[in-house]
Amino acid sequence: MEKDCLFCKISHGQMGTDFLLENDNLVVFRDINPHAPVHLLIVPKRHIRSINDLTESDNQILAEMIMTARQMAQKEKINASGYKLLFNVEKGGGQVIFHLHLHLIGGWNK
Ligand code: 5GP
Ligand code: ZN
Repeated sequence: MEKDCLFCKISHGQMGTDFLLENDNLVVFRDINPHAPVHLLIVPKRHIRSINDLTESDNQILAEMIMTARQMAQKEKINASGYKLLFNVEKGGGQVIFHLHLHLIGGWNK
């Protein structure tokens, strides 16, 4: 865990956040400031700063994040209507929390 990292604290259950899904590797919870009717964050428990910091050894967690987003889209019933998957990368890319996370955004025309 990285000291002073909000998503390290959230993903380790230290902030009392409600998880839609949790396993040994990642958690899923609703964005506090949703940009769409469905806006979930898929967050690995292990601290990785951003997409820029990924290495070959992270292939598995990255695949798991995307497959989890796919699964959550089905659970939220937005798979048929469609959705966006988004990684913001560093400040210029709109990243505000410097702990890797995948946005699942959709539900406009459910
Ligand atoms: P970024 O811009 O870094 O890609 O996205 C960070 C996201 O985290 C933002 O959409 C923001 O609304 C969300 N967020 C920030 N703090 C919290 C929090 O304490 N709880 C939850 N559920 N979401 C948060
Ligand atoms: Zn972190």
